[in-house]
Amino acid sequence: MSKVSMGEMLRDASRRGYAVPCFNAINLDMVRGIIEAAEDEQSPVILCHAEIHFKYTPLEQIAPIMVEAMNRAKVPVSILLDHGKSFSAVTNAMHLGFNAIMFDGSEYEYEENVRRTAEVVKIAKTLGVSVEGELGYVTRPKSGGAEGEDDDSIIDDTSLYTDPEQAREFVERTGIDALAAAFGTVHGVYLKKPVLDLIRLERIRNTAGVPIVMHGGSGLSEEDFHKSIDHGASKINYYTGMALKVVDRAKERFIQSEEKTFYHEFMMNVIQDFKEDAQHIMRTFRSSNKA
Ligand SMILES: [Zn+2]
Repeated sequence: MSKVSMGEMLRDASRRGYAVPCFNAINLDMVRGIIEAAEDEQSPVILCHAEIHFKYTPLEQIAPIMVEAMNRAKVPVSILLDHGKSFSAVTNAMHLGFNAIMFDGSEYEYEENVRRTAEVVKIAKTLGVSVEGELGYVTRPKSGGAEGEDDDSIIDDTSLYTDPEQAREFVERTGIDALAAAFGTVHGVYLKKPVLDLIRLERIRNTAGVPIVMHGGSGLSEEDFHKSIDHGASKINYYTGMALKVVDRAKERFIQSEEKTFYHEFMMNVIQDFKEDAQHIMRTFRSSNKA
């Protein structure tokens, strides 16, 4: 199994009614926990590293770890550059063995987003790398912990949502394999209860002609996830929830334990916590037993 093209993986998810989980993995412990989860659950999985996380873990250091994990895994794995914005990040990731790129041109005007995304696709195609583009804008509010600069009030701005007709044109003109769509989800922690525009999601699915990606998967209810998958989400990005949960678990263990703790014991517990959360997500996204 191991290395599988992301485009192929998502088309299978779209056909069979599940979503492939995409986890940001910023170190070896996360990579190990997530891959163990995928193998136990027999789930396909996408490991990703975001350009905004390069300051914590340089791409050059995590790439060989991810490539090795992908090649050795007993289930289909794809590795993706998440929210690549600079040309250097995109080309470095391809050079280092990533087989998928999420190019985020959502901050540009439509024509410029088309131009830049199409340019990335042109290079990626020659190397057999899948590309995800973004149309509309999934917000990143300042107080949400996802290192965003957006004003918190932006989450109510439905003019940033993806337009279904424009989605059709965007896919045709860029040649992307998957489309990240904005329909009410938010990066980081939800500052208020999310209201998802599922009718819009379904229209985008029907017009775009490629699998749809949902960003901002932390803090949604099981019901939100299931409805989003039923209405067309074939890949769901998830990080914040896991990042918070694992630290909470570690805190609890420190409070309960009076013994001294060695780092390797702490590390093994953390890997187990990442694994359990990833398994829960795989069952929720119905990707278990789809490998
Ligand atoms: Zn995202």
